[in-house]
Amino acid sequence: MKPEIIPPDTVAGLRRALLDHYDLSARDLPWRRDTDPYRVLVSEFMLQQTRVETVIRYYEPWLERFPTVTALAEAGEDQVLKAWEGLGYYRRARNLHRAAQVVAERHGGTIPSDPDELRSLPGVGEYTTGAVASIAFGVPTPAVDGNVRRVFARLFDEAKPTPGWLRKVAGQLLSSDRAGDWTQAVMELGATVCTPRAPACDACPVLAWCASNASGTVDDRPAPTKKRDVPTRVIPLAVLCRSGEVILQRRPTGGLLAGLWAFPELDEIAPEDLATSMGLEPVGEPRPLPEVDHRFTHLHARYVPTVLEVRGDVREAVPEGVRWVRPGGLEDTALPVAQRKVFDSWQNSVE
Ligand code: SF4
Repeated sequence: MKPEIIPPDTVAGLRRALLDHYDLSARDLPWRRDTDPYRVLVSEFMLQQTRVETVIRYYEPWLERFPTVTALAEAGEDQVLKAWEGLGYYRRARNLHRAAQVVAERHGGTIPSDPDELRSLPGVGEYTTGAVASIAFGVPTPAVDGNVRRVFARLFDEAKPTPGWLRKVAGQLLSSDRAGDWTQAVMELGATVCTPRAPACDACPVLAWCASNASGTVDDRPAPTKKRDVPTRVIPLAVLCRSGEVILQRRPTGGLLAGLWAFPELDEIAPEDLATSMGLEPVGEPRPLPEVDHRFTHLHARYVPTVLEVRGDVREAVPEGVRWVRPGGLEDTALPVAQRKVFDSWQNSVE
């Protein structure tokens, strides 16, 4: 199929059927109750690579804490990371924070509606530009995420949809008078009907136009991509504690989990040697805590924590960003999920 020649009748009929279906059955999601651009921007950042059910738990608390783009721009990075704690892919939080600062500095606190200006904000790629421009401002701009890719590949029986092909199909089908609803209607179909496995074709509002259903190729569209091998890395951690409090270190800016707090990693060094290098005096024997596995996109991490009791204080030459924390004392300290599990198991071991 050549996307530029989807017959006009097909475009009109398919649009109508899908928009009617969306009007009748769209899920009532918190970010659909309002098209305020800041709310839309927050939801789109949160939804990147994260399930709707998870985002629902974070969305309203985030808006209570940072109700406007200006409030977010003025917040400290620690507050932002703490509010994002547990959502994962923390680069999104830092980018959203920086995007808010750019909006405050260059756009007077108003999120721009122009797709080129949106696209220039930190962390805003082609998909997010299309989603925010169409949903918040009604500007007809295509937005292609994984759900949309799957729906179009099946509708037009395309085994290997390229970005260029998807852009053309999305552009041709986009409704100019209901751009935001159209964007959400296609995503909704992919999330609830045209699902990766066992799509509900019998209940599909666009079944009559679906080429892969007609040719029996639904399960092969789009063709599966080869899964990358993900390496496993064992990461020993030092849980250095002193009279019921424990040391956390801020991770460097740039790299994995940048700016978050974590237990010091033991790079081929014993916990006693790490403690000594920090100016602390080891006392007692090291003892293990349960290991914690965590999957990142590119890495399976196996954290192996060891508790060591120490005395004294951290010497001044140790790089900034070291903090002693007591059980229950993480109100201002954002920890990634796996580190939080290690913290909880240390906390349980001292209670
Ligand atoms: Fe997807 Fe089936 Fe609908 Fe085709 S008919 S778009 S495969 S749910």
